Formats: sequence, structure tokens, C-alpha cells
Amino acid sequence: MPITDPELIAIVQKRALKKYVCRNCGALNPWGATKCRRCRSKNLRPKHYELGGKR
Ligand SMILES: [Zn+2]
Repeated sequence: MPITDPELIAIVQKRALKKYVCRNCGALNPWGATKCRRCRSKNLRPKHYELGGKR
């Protein structure tokens, strides 16, 4: 079932953007994380996708 509601797509895309990537080990961490869940470093950066990611 494809999602066709534009508002829903916007919500989904926003949520997909809300990730942190660990600079130390590259693990994805949930938004709001303060430490990496894999290596527990605090060296996190927000992940920025370009919207409309499928090329
Ligand atoms: Zn890490």
C-alpha cells in the first residue's frame, strides 16, 4: 500500500531525517540520543539526507 497523502509523506521524511550518526563508529542513533549506542562516545552528528532520496 503506497503512501499517497502528502502530509504523511512529509511526516515520514521528517522522521527519517531525525537520526544521529556516530563520528566514531558510524552507527545510527535515534534522535535525542546523547551517546552512541554502540561505542558510547558522545561524538554524534545529525544525519542530513537530501529529500527525495531515491535516485
Ligand atoms: Zn559509536
